Amino acid sequence: PIPKVVIVGRPNVGKSSLFNWLIGHRVAIVDPTSGVTRDRVDHLTEHGGRYFELVDTGGMGVIDKDGLTDDIEKQIRTAMEEASVILFVVDSQEGITGLDELVARKLRSLKAPLLLVANKADNKSLKLDAETEFPRFGWPMLTVSVTGGQNKVALLETVHKLL
Ligand code: GDP
Ligand code: MG
Repeated sequence: PIPKVVIVGRPNVGKSSLFNWLIGHRVAIVDPTSGVTRDRVDHLTEHGGRYFELVDTGGMGVIDKDGLTDDIEKQIRTAMEEASVILFVVDSQEGITGLDELVARKLRSLKAPLLLVANKADNKSLKLDAETEFPRFGWPMLTVSVTGGQNKVALLETVHKLL
């Protein structure tokens, strides 16, 4: 079977943006104001001759406080059932939030290798901040900037090694 790489994280960290960036075109919905709700998007992806299915989970659309935790439960379940590799996305500009802690706690018990992806590291100083802030989770990490186009190849290569 084709390995699955599942993207998880709280809303607005850039999961769908990351998904679109990695597959090279737009499929996942970025910015929920369109009112379109889709639960997940899967896309067959290749790097260095290896194929994997990239999975963007996470509610799209306006969700209330309880909806948030339901959404996270669902992401974790998908990761638990399907992931060969988990990409845990966080926001370098906001640092660690309570919801990040909640997601992290739930991800601890999962067996698949996990890579922490600190997105929105749009400049050197944000990258440095992220490299100071996020190692305390204890997972291997990489900083990226989807909108700035930073570190895509490094990310794909790391995923490739974890597959
Ligand atoms: P999701 O809810 O985790 O799927 O997040 P989205 O992909 O919908 O993105 C949420 C917002 O973050 C959008 O406005 C994106 O344009 C923005 N965003 C995504 N990646 C970056 C980045 O690298 N830098 C900055 N500054 N904004 C980003
Ligand atoms: Mg999304």
